[in-house]
Amino acid sequence: MSGATLDFRDVAMRFPNGTVALDDVDLSIRPGEFVALLGPSGCGKSTLLRLASGLDTATSGRTETGTDRIGYVFQDATLLPWLSVERNVALFGELDHLPASELSGRVTHALDMVGLTKFAKHLPHQLSGGMRMRTSLARSLVNNPALFLFDEPFGALDEFTREKLNDDVRALWLEDRFTGVFVTHSIAEAVYMATRVVVMGASPGRIIGEYDVPFGDERDEHTRYSPEFAELSGEISDLLKAAMV
Ligand code: ADP
Repeated sequence: MSGATLDFRDVAMRFPNGTVALDDVDLSIRPGEFVALLGPSGCGKSTLLRLASGLDTATSGRTETGTDRIGYVFQDATLLPWLSVERNVALFGELDHLPASELSGRVTHALDMVGLTKFAKHLPHQLSGGMRMRTSLARSLVNNPALFLFDEPFGALDEFTREKLNDDVRALWLEDRFTGVFVTHSIAEAVYMATRVVVMGASPGRIIGEYDVPFGDERDEHTRYSPEFAELSGEISDLLKAAMV
């Protein structure tokens, strides 16, 4: 599976109430990159994802998404409470009218990928917060996304669960090599997850810096405690602080 391209050219987004959510955004994401969008609340990160997914259209400029196989997960797992884990995971495939035999194979594979095979018959209320997010990830995996958008998916989880899910998402990416765009306001999460960190500032929402992450595919807790990790995180923190004064 290979990832899609995603291009924003001179993109601006002004809402009818006058809020300029994005201004002058130029960003090219290559197939198979994993880009973290990092910045304070209100700097337009979610708006950028909505444009990438086609849910919104920019006021000016061009957004080009090289696929219609898009996965999208949010902070809220948005599961249907009366459906089992496996029925929730099958949902988007059903909406896409995948043949039943193919869908069943994909659901089995997606549940396996996120470690929920044993919980296939459970209802959402019987799951932990982390497991609900895994169900949400599996639901998007069923459609074999070439572009996977993550809108701060783990912001509401405790740190331990969040770090575990960070590794799970990285494992999915290493296996499928979709193009990933991951919104967060955690510097550590951005640097750990991404191949490139795009830093945004607010009022108006815009890109204020970009950093290639110098770590390869193999990342673990040692990565988080390495001098390079601290150095890059410090640089990004300085940039964000400078943009806020
Ligand atoms: P972030 O994801 O970085 O927190 P958002 O993309 O959600 O930022 O929002 C960027 C700015 O646009 C914020 O000031 C927000 O209040 C505003 N905004 C978002 N959606 C709308 C909307 N539908 N109408 C008016 N303003 C909006």
